[in-house]
Amino acid sequence: MDDLSTMHPMAAHESRLLSLSPDLLGAGGVDGYLKLFNPAWTHALGWTDEQLRTTPYLELVHPEDREETKRVIEGLVAGGTVDEFVCRVLRADGTDRFIVWSGHGSPADACFYIAGKDITERQRLETEFALRAEKLEHTNTELQEFAYIASHDLAEPLRMITSYLELLQRRYGGQLDETADEFIGYAVGGAERMKALIDDLLAYSRVGSHEMERVEVDVSDVLHPVLQSLERAIEEADARVEPAEPLAPVCCDTTQLGQLLQNLVANAVKFGAADRPPVVTVAAVLDGEGVRVSVTDNGIGIARAQQERIFKMFSRLHGRDEYEGTGIGLALCRRIAERHGGRIWVESEQGAGSSFHVWLPNAR
Ligand code: ADP
Repeated sequence: MDDLSTMHPMAAHESRLLSLSPDLLGAGGVDGYLKLFNPAWTHALGWTDEQLRTTPYLELVHPEDREETKRVIEGLVAGGTVDEFVCRVLRADGTDRFIVWSGHGSPADACFYIAGKDITERQRLETEFALRAEKLEHTNTELQEFAYIASHDLAEPLRMITSYLELLQRRYGGQLDETADEFIGYAVGGAERMKALIDDLLAYSRVGSHEMERVEVDVSDVLHPVLQSLERAIEEADARVEPAEPLAPVCCDTTQLGQLLQNLVANAVKFGAADRPPVVTVAAVLDGEGVRVSVTDNGIGIARAQQERIFKMFSRLHGRDEYEGTGIGLALCRRIAERHGGRIWVESEQGAGSSFHVWLPNAR
């Protein structure tokens, strides 16, 4: 820094201000040497004033970044400006720091002015995050493939087991004793449950792996085939499923919206209260920058303490003897909502029905 005692009073103020700055402030001469620099240079880089003054500034730049820095400085010397230029600057201890520079040239003064911020820590964190994200993505892909292959390959031997069990049941049912029939019945039941699990797991893993195709869809068009496929369950439960017209159009992957509605409506019908037939409404209303799709029932409801848990994989609040199911449906719904950049939640009270809401953003 220049000697303050010989300075003009205003220059002394400016010099004090410069010395307060944590950023590297300076002026580089067209002759390749620094003409002015504040104490931050020494704090950040460890070079003495003498070294900073007598070393060509390009020599302070990391050799790998020197070419580009030279180009940028040439631009400045010609009277240009620079914004957010990052290069590594060498420290006296042999390490280096990432500095982001902005500056502008002043040909009239035969120099250029620069301000630099040490972003080494930010850079390190960014690199670390990028590496972690890459690792995570790799693990995710592996898991995804594993889940898909495992469930896909399990389906084949299971088909074999099921068909032979059914053969056994058809051919020998009633010929062996009662206990044998019962055992075969259990085995068939087990195989059916396993098939349901594998199908659900496959559906779950497909949501992650398949390309999404988001289009604007009419919810009624998606709901219609869903209700058709649930016709038997709806009839058996003596349920009524009513769309709350008008339904707002949703921007989504049609197949995934179908899976989502299929699971939510099936649950709304399945978890009906004992003393009243299920009444289910499906609504789709504009909500902020998206649409909220809701499936509301008058069923058994869900205690507040359980309302988070049910969206986890295999999480069920009832035994199989009470209600059939795999515990994958809501995890699948959550995955679908999240893949769309949306969310799913439930409003419910034990014994007083439930409303499942899915908010899906408009396409960006
Ligand atoms: P599944 O229906 O196969 O059991 P889900 O993941 O779809 O699995 O649901 C998880 C659990 O959440 C269910 O077992 C049930 O206990 C509870 N649940 C889901 N939907 C409803 C509903 N509409 N009313 C009451 N409970 C529900």
